[in-house]
Amino acid sequence: MSHPYAFLRGQFLPLDQANINVRTHAFLYGTAVFEGVKAYWIDQSSQMAIFRMQDHYKRLLQSCHILRLQSPYNLEEMSDMTVELIRRNQCKSATYIRPIVYKADLRIGPILIVENTQDDFCLFTVPMDGYLDTNDGLHVGVSSWRRLDDNAIPARAKVNGAYVNTALAKTDGHLAGFNDVIVLTQEGHVAEGSAMNLFLVRDGQLITSSVTENILEGITRSTIAELAEQELGLKTISRPIDRTELYVADEAFFVGTATEVAPITRIDHRPVGDGKLGSISMKLKDLFDKAIHGHLPKYEHWLTRV
Ligand code: PMP
Repeated sequence: MSHPYAFLRGQFLPLDQANINVRTHAFLYGTAVFEGVKAYWIDQSSQMAIFRMQDHYKRLLQSCHILRLQSPYNLEEMSDMTVELIRRNQCKSATYIRPIVYKADLRIGPILIVENTQDDFCLFTVPMDGYLDTNDGLHVGVSSWRRLDDNAIPARAKVNGAYVNTALAKTDGHLAGFNDVIVLTQEGHVAEGSAMNLFLVRDGQLITSSVTENILEGITRSTIAELAEQELGLKTISRPIDRTELYVADEAFFVGTATEVAPITRIDHRPVGDGKLGSISMKLKDLFDKAIHGHLPKYEHWLTRV
């Protein structure tokens, strides 16, 4: 089996032994937080490189803080284990890494404060080549499901249980024939995609929803904003976005760790711009692709080479 090892309860284990008890709090109540990290094969040096790993672990610890979870490991320790797992699993192609901090207690009741118990950390990897097929551009729909509110389940924290919202939106979008969906906030502003952030291009300006619009503060979102500014001289404006701005945008694209950069060519059966792959979207897709594969020395600090 490929990727045969996982990390659980303080040790590396064969995947089929990395199991949790049916009474685990996180299973009963969704009380866990996670990250999605990606590593790529670097051709030039024949090695793997993990993209922006420290930023992912920083966000994982922020999610823990919001959910009152205590990670048994600090950022450096989790980073070291990730490198070790990539080695043990002998990864040699694009790999998705899933770290989780979860409430490991076996007592019944949803309260997050339980004395004398430790929350646990686990980690596994899977091969991942294309999360979405983006070659022809995506056709996406605005979901009838609304994004969770910061005062209900905060989107800023990557909480496992919150992905019920993502699952409902993504599934109904899929059944309606869309490649993916855009979810709106309770106020009707554009939040983000099912599990990705969204950028629009209007009159040469890059626009993305502000962090107060119930979005996950995406690491790819910040990567793209930096590449756009540094390499294309384009500043990103973060502000609330109306639904109908989607219909009049010149270009639109999703960004995310699994999604990477995915141009959108139709929204709710309306062509975006001229309905073709947008030129700014494609330039950013190309820059992102170069950055993750180690072709841009200026951004080497984003890579952890294994
Ligand atoms: N929003 C949501 C809801 C997500 O699940 C993800 C994927 N982690 C993103 C946005 C994109 O975030 P990132 O670029 O950090 O992967």
